[in-house]
Amino acid sequence: MSQKTAKLTFWGVRGSTPTVDRSTWRYGGNTPCLEFVATDGKRFILDCGTGLRHLGRRYMDSLGDSPLDAVVLVTHYHWDHIQGLPFFFPFVQERNHFHFFSFQSKYLGEDSLKRVLQTQMATPYFPVDVSIFHCKREYTEIAGGDTIDFGETRVSTKWLNHPQGCLGFRLETPAGIVVYATDNEPGVADLDRDLRKLAEGADIYIHDAQYTPEQLRTTQKGWGHSTWLEGISVARDAGAKNLVLFHHDPDSSDRGVDAILRQTRQQYANAWAASEGMVMTLDSHKMDVVMRDSRAGQRREGFFRATIVGYSEEGRAFQEETIIRDLTLHGALLYLENTPRLQSELQVMMEAPVDELHPDGRIPLRGYVVRREPAEDENRNAVGIVFAEEVEPDRGNA
Ligand SMILES: [Zn+2]
Ligand SMILES: [Zn+2]
Repeated sequence: MSQKTAKLTFWGVRGSTPTVDRSTWRYGGNTPCLEFVATDGKRFILDCGTGLRHLGRRYMDSLGDSPLDAVVLVTHYHWDHIQGLPFFFPFVQERNHFHFFSFQSKYLGEDSLKRVLQTQMATPYFPVDVSIFHCKREYTEIAGGDTIDFGETRVSTKWLNHPQGCLGFRLETPAGIVVYATDNEPGVADLDRDLRKLAEGADIYIHDAQYTPEQLRTTQKGWGHSTWLEGISVARDAGAKNLVLFHHDPDSSDRGVDAILRQTRQQYANAWAASEGMVMTLDSHKMDVVMRDSRAGQRREGFFRATIVGYSEEGRAFQEETIIRDLTLHGALLYLENTPRLQSELQVMMEAPVDELHPDGRIPLRGYVVRREPAEDENRNAVGIVFAEEVEPDRGNA
């Protein structure tokens, strides 16, 4: 049955290794895993990093006894893209069916991905072996330049420039085009050209933005990754509508990623930083973004006067007085007449009793917009913000 929307969910956005540091909590610490549900309901899983465990849990909660059928597209065999495989619970159930697509690695030989899974769970690396998995599994080898149709979705591939090889994927549906091109280092003319072809006219272009331009020029050259600046270049050349910065460095704090996003938006307005739980919906080539609801921290209803300074959806600076009624140690819910942009920064000046610490009677805070919806009072928006950490030493990634 055909519906007109397609939905992309980010379950893991971190590159190289998972992070649990508090300073990476907002964008998330799980390694690459995305789910794409096409217009005809066909499910695709893109990469099997640690985010896959959470997707598996979501399936267990939402599908009940219904069988799960999904196409799994794996870009390459580095740890961060396969780590979640042994922890994906739907593999245990006989009724589920997965069709894996990845390339034949010259280091692994035939049935590369099948071998990866067996090896990950081999003695003495794992307590149980693959015999615990009863689902139906099929493996198909693909290579750069291939095109395969799955119902209403056409998937095509290109080789990327990454140590031991990597595939980029383009998924075309009647609702729009998603291009997933992570783990790629620019600088090889043929492959740079192929990447632009792959990304041509994409509604959502997902780009490896692990390093700063400075890092890529110096210490990280040859590691197989790219930058936000190169992302802008590809997105422009390919005429992509939205650029999603992905595969954040494990040493990039949330503040570091904020800074990368801010720089990117100065040159390319339709840019986003991939964050765990972010959902992008496509409908007739129009894109909508929803961020994960943040419920961390004890909630307190109150009545705090505050002045909010930020930028609206249209990029206009605004300042507005408001009352904060819902506050946690991590964030707050504001009601604003203005419409601040998702993932933009707001200055929040909360009124406080005048004392030695706050001689002007104000507590300055910095928040990031993670949610935005119409409020009951129709002239206002309910705006969820997460307080950003105070200035901390960034490890060279800002
Ligand atoms: Zn990676
Ligand atoms: Zn890699």
